[in-house]
Amino acid sequence: MSTTGSPAPSPTILAASSIITMDPASPRASAIAFDPGTGVIAAVGSLETCLAAAPGAEVHDLGDTVLMPGFVEPHSHPVVSGIVTRSPSIWIAPYVGYPSWDDVVALFRKLDQETPAGQPLLFNGLDRLLQGAPSPTADMLDGLFPSRPVVIADNSGHLAYFNTATMALQGWDTEPPADPVGASFGRTADGHLDGRAYELQAVMAVTGPVMAKVVTHPLHSAAEWYRYMASFGITSTSDMTYDRPFWAAYQALGSLADCPLRVSLYHVSTSDRCGDPLESPFPDRLRKQGIKLWADGSPWVGTAALSFPYLDTETVRKAEIPLGPAGVSAMNYTPEELDAVVDAHAPQGWQLSFHCNGDAAFDVVLDVYERGLTKHGLLGTDHRWRVEHLGACRTEQFERAAALGVEASMGPFQFIYWGDLLDGTMFPSAIGSQWQAVGDAFAAGLEPSFHNDGSVTPPDVLLNVQSMVTRTSMSGTVHGPNQKITLDQALRAVTVNGARQLFVDDRLGSLEAGKVADLVELSADPYTVDPATLATELHVRGTWVGGRRIDLDEFDAQVERLDPTPHQDLARSAQQRCCG
Ligand SMILES: [Zn+2]
Ligand SMILES: [Zn+2]
Repeated sequence: MSTTGSPAPSPTILAASSIITMDPASPRASAIAFDPGTGVIAAVGSLETCLAAAPGAEVHDLGDTVLMPGFVEPHSHPVVSGIVTRSPSIWIAPYVGYPSWDDVVALFRKLDQETPAGQPLLFNGLDRLLQGAPSPTADMLDGLFPSRPVVIADNSGHLAYFNTATMALQGWDTEPPADPVGASFGRTADGHLDGRAYELQAVMAVTGPVMAKVVTHPLHSAAEWYRYMASFGITSTSDMTYDRPFWAAYQALGSLADCPLRVSLYHVSTSDRCGDPLESPFPDRLRKQGIKLWADGSPWVGTAALSFPYLDTETVRKAEIPLGPAGVSAMNYTPEELDAVVDAHAPQGWQLSFHCNGDAAFDVVLDVYERGLTKHGLLGTDHRWRVEHLGACRTEQFERAAALGVEASMGPFQFIYWGDLLDGTMFPSAIGSQWQAVGDAFAAGLEPSFHNDGSVTPPDVLLNVQSMVTRTSMSGTVHGPNQKITLDQALRAVTVNGARQLFVDDRLGSLEAGKVADLVELSADPYTVDPATLATELHVRGTWVGGRRIDLDEFDAQVERLDPTPHQDLARSAQQRCCG
């Protein structure tokens, strides 16, 4: 019996119109009891069961709210996403209000008029395929922005476009830089820069200095993305391009009482000492979980390792996508190089995770994983090595992954936003309609999770669920109805499956006694709503993390009280995301 200090807080009981537990042993409940200090769940069931398990509890009746486990997006890039898309950066992706290049140009003209002279502008998310945009040159951009430095990052993360004022800022107008290793700058016939940067090192050389001038409070920008994810009901996520410069920001945000996200970090394999352990002051909120590797690039710019060619259509030609097939020539590394990365980190006990879009890449990744698992004695163990995105993959590949114990995190967003082009314009319908073959993945015995890949697309969990249940793209068109999944499967993908892939399923992902109360409040029961309207009819009313109802305005206030000085240089090192 405690005689000193403050008394233990009395337990909390939430009564809801229904609770979807995601625990197959007891799928529905009407009340949940937990310790408000630790969030540990004492009981899930009827109000009577909860009162018996937690005598003296404070009961809060949530009325017609339906509770579920907080959504898990196991593949994101939260800090970088905030820096590149939230104000003062400007997000110009097609699905956030700029469906066409004309819309983008109208915004450019408006901002050039309204923004004080000389102030640089940073845009992110130009999508040449979806917006029908040209590949902008410095000449073209100088017409729109004659005097202020302007950089536009392509949605793929592989390209950036910049004007003459940006070159002048770096002295590149008189002395053009050499091409960085593995990257290049577009050049005019007389050797000047033409305003285009290709691949990460060149993209970073262009965007870094402008980003540092524009994004003056990167921690605030990162917090905005946390808030954005929370608004869609997400309580757990990851950073799949973690590296050391981000540690201070993750630690600062994770220390705040109303921090809405738990974050698992996957260290990029290209960083030196990426296999080192990372001591976290609060490992239940912030922890290093694995190593991130890359197999290939992106289908939107023609760098995915696909075994089949693109269709020769005007849209594909205009986007300057090589028809291919690219095959394994699109791999970023040789199989031997990938084996070496696996050999370095498997013995350290890290979970591995591969960016992999094309089917040819998936074959290589499965070979590399099979060799690594065999060599390091991990076959048949609970390793949960992951593969990410899997845009165009085949049934027998999913079956092989399942047999190896490999986990799949898939991206319905590719289908949602690009589906109309994939089916018949980019690829023959037999291939394009099957993009993001989640039905095949489930049928093969996998339990995939879903992701939106940081700033690549808005983290709209319920839209992912809706589109995979109805197999309907953003235009309302059905593509590949044979890939439809059930609502049960889709809800598993955004809760338990994500939690398992992050190795947090011992505490999160479902609501059971002994686990932790991370919750999402929904305005209605997803099983009573027309599946075609899940993302519009259902509303996220709030989230709970560790038994605390998250107050996002309070989170903002807590961020504002932090000292921004240690984070000032963060924007300079912000890499682009992994181009799902
Ligand atoms: Zn990726
Ligand atoms: Zn990613």
